Amino acid sequence: MTAPLLALDQVSRRYVGRKGLFGRPTTVHAVDGASLAIDRGETLGIVGESGSGKSTLARLALGLEAPDAGRVAVDGAPMPDARAPEWRALRRRMQMVFQDPLGALDRRLPVATQIAEPLAIHGIGAAAERAEAAERALATVGLSREQGARHPHELSGGQRQRVVIARALATDPELLVCDEPVSALDVSIQAQVVNLLIDLQAERRLAMLFISHDLRVIRQISRRVAVMYLGRIVEEGPAEDVFRDPQHPYAQALVSAAPAPGRRSRQRVILTGDPPNPAARPSGCAFHPRCPVAVARCRDEAPALVEIAPRRRAACGLIAEAPARPRPAEAAA
Ligand code: SF4
Repeated sequence: MTAPLLALDQVSRRYVGRKGLFGRPTTVHAVDGASLAIDRGETLGIVGESGSGKSTLARLALGLEAPDAGRVAVDGAPMPDARAPEWRALRRRMQMVFQDPLGALDRRLPVATQIAEPLAIHGIGAAAERAEAAERALATVGLSREQGARHPHELSGGQRQRVVIARALATDPELLVCDEPVSALDVSIQAQVVNLLIDLQAERRLAMLFISHDLRVIRQISRRVAVMYLGRIVEEGPAEDVFRDPQHPYAQALVSAAPAPGRRSRQRVILTGDPPNPAARPSGCAFHPRCPVAVARCRDEAPALVEIAPRRRAACGLIAEAPARPRPAEAAA
């Protein structure tokens, strides 16, 4: 069997911080035992609220950070250390698109020069060839040569994000990690950029790890989806199945808040309680203070992510026991 392009196996990452000069140290488990695999040409969407660990997961996937536990593998081989030459060579195959295009670009340089930069870093082609490649990349994302001569502040937000995508594509990568790539854009521009990514993904058979808090965007772009809550994956499966019939109570609440266009919405599941605080993880199932169907033992028992159907996994102690249990909305009816 061929190894997946990228695999994360029980990966964890924690940060130790301190509130104020004399405050007690606190440990934030940003990612806690996450396992995922992405095949070539596949788009995996990661969705969750702010603080769920999505961005840390992206950095672990690219090797920008090393996990405290677990293993990241590319083509079945361990991810090299970020200081090693092997990692720099690997980065040619794995690129990232960030949320804030202005922050990701150098304001002093014309954008075409910046698109050619990764080629220079990886020693690809002579200067004239790199300039030609940058021009082709501009055309791929729908920008002209004249726009390529401009500086970032002379372009609109959507154009800047196209530049960032063009730069990420310059080395012809196999994997694109997109961290909230459209959340800083107007809704109309969001659709253009998402459609561009969908087209590029299909044309180039790119694998994509697409991170967003916006379920509508994840629904549009993903073939598979993983739902994160406080550093853990709580549900994962084919996007169509998860959106049609979410199993984990948190996934049910998310999906009920973002019905598919043209479909009747299921009864909205309103979550009570505070949004997640990564520095104060509740005991047992971390979702229990907000879960509409929690039972007493959810405070003590942390459910594992287990297979609940072919190619579907969920982390809820009640699902395995009673697959036909009522949804919160049905129970309340
Ligand atoms: Fe809710 Fe309990 Fe399932 Fe956690 S384990 S999602 S608290 S029912």
